[in-house]
Amino acid sequence: MAKFLIAHCDLETLEGIEEAERLVSNGWIITNSTPFSLTLTECKHNNTEYIPYEIDTNVAENYVCLDCGMNLPFPEREDTE
Ligand SMILES: [Zn+2]
Repeated sequence: MAKFLIAHCDLETLEGIEEAERLVSNGWIITNSTPFSLTLTECKHNNTEYIPYEIDTNVAENYVCLDCGMNLPFPEREDTE
């Protein structure tokens, strides 16, 4: 399984903010953010899977990257059904 680099940037330091800006400009994806920190990965999340809510197993609806295993924001749905 491919490994992807993950970075945690401390937004309370100038160093951390500059690091985050540098990574974003290099195409890294923000996977989690708080007022104090950012988590980024170099994974482009090209290999994703939508997991629908399962009533039987009570598995929550989810959208995950199969490469790095991150939970992703839901994509905008184009179908109206
Ligand atoms: Zn990914």
